[in-house]
Amino acid sequence: MILCSNPHAQYLALREEIDAAVQRVLNSGWYILGDEVAAFEAEFSAHFGIEHAIGVGSGTEAIHLALAACEIGADDEVVTVSHTAVATVAAIELTGATPVLVDVDPVTMTLNPAQLESAITPRTKAILPVHLYGQSADMDGICEVASRHGLRVIEDASQAHGASWNGRRVGAIGDAGCFSLYPTKNLGGLGDGGIVTTADADLAQRMRSLREYGWERRFISERPGWNTRLDEIQAAVLRVKLKHLDRFTQLRRDIAARYDSGLSDLDIQLPSRRADDGHVFHLYVVRAKQRDSLLEFLRAREIGASLHYPEPVHRQPAYRNRLPGSNDLPVTERLADEILSLPIYPELSSDDQQRVIAAVSAFYGAEHAANPHAA
Ligand SMILES: *Cc1c(COP(=O)(O)O)cnc(C)c1O
Repeated sequence: MILCSNPHAQYLALREEIDAAVQRVLNSGWYILGDEVAAFEAEFSAHFGIEHAIGVGSGTEAIHLALAACEIGADDEVVTVSHTAVATVAAIELTGATPVLVDVDPVTMTLNPAQLESAITPRTKAILPVHLYGQSADMDGICEVASRHGLRVIEDASQAHGASWNGRRVGAIGDAGCFSLYPTKNLGGLGDGGIVTTADADLAQRMRSLREYGWERRFISERPGWNTRLDEIQAAVLRVKLKHLDRFTQLRRDIAARYDSGLSDLDIQLPSRRADDGHVFHLYVVRAKQRDSLLEFLRAREIGASLHYPEPVHRQPAYRNRLPGSNDLPVTERLADEILSLPIYPELSSDDQQRVIAAVSAFYGAEHAANPHAA
C-alpha cells in the first residue's frame, strides 16, 4: 500500500538522530517545558525569522491560545472558512467565540477576501485564514480588510510550515501564526504538539502565561489560564526534524512537479500555483469530476489516495446548520465532491511516484476507451 502520508518512513530515515535525542531527554530527568522546548522555540523562530515562538500541546491549542491572548471570547465573532480541518473551527469555539464561515476561492481553495466584507459585524474581532494544503491564503486581500476594520489576523499555518506569501513567511504576516506539529504535518513530532509565532512581545508573554495556568511565576496565576504545554521528548524530536525541513520541503516540491508533468494531459484539475506563493505541498490535491470512482480505483490498486476533507465543517453533525454563513458556501460545497489527495511525503520513492501517475492515467485511459467520442 502506498500511504498518503508516512511519518514512520521519516522516523526510519532519521532513526539514529531521533533515538539519540529521545535518550537525551529520558536521561535528563526533565520532561515538560525545559531546555529542549526552549531550544526548539529559539530554533523555530530563528528558522522562520519570527521573533517569538511558544510551544504548545497541539495545533488546535495553538489557535485557541492565540485567540485567547488577543482577549477574544464569548460574544465575539471570528471569520474563517468551512473548507478546512475541523480543528480550525473547534479552536474558535474553545474560546467561546462564534465562528463565522466564508467561502473559498475556487482556484486556490483558500479564504476568498471578496467574501469578508459581508461577513463582518460589530462583534467581529478577528479573521482566521487557513494556509491549506501548503499554500498561503491571499494575505494582501485579508490584511487589507482586517486593517480597515481594526481586526486581528490569526493565521492557521498547520499545513504550511515554511510556505510564503510574496516572499514573506506565513505565520509572520498576521498577529500570530499557529502551527500543528502532529506527526503527519510537514514538521511533525512523534506525538501531539503545536507552536505559535508572533512578532508582538506582549502577545507572546500573554501566551506563555496562559499556556500554563496563567502563571508569571510558578504556582501563582495572574490570569485564568489552562494547560497546553509541549513536552521535552517532542521538542527534542522536532529539533532533529527542523534541521531537515528545508530539504524535505524541496523533496515535496519535486514530487509535486513530477505529478504536474505526469498528469497534465488528463481530465483533472491540478493544484494551482501562484507566481510567488512558496507552496510547500503538505498535500497534493487535484479536482476530478468522477472523484468517487477515481478514489475507489486507486484504492483497489493499493494507492492510499485520501480526501481532505470528506465533509466541510458546516456539513458535519456537530456543526450542521448552526454557524453563521453556512448557507452561502457554494464553492466549498462543490469542492467537497471533487477534491482528491494523492500520496505525497518526502520519503515517497521515485518508483511509487511513477505508480501513482500510472494508476491515475490508467483510470482515465479506461474512461476514454469506454467513450468512443473521446478517442
Ligand atoms: C492539523 C490541523 C490543525 C490541528 O492540529 P492538531 O495538532 O491536530 O490539533 C488545525 N488546522 C489545520 C488546517 C490542520 O491541518
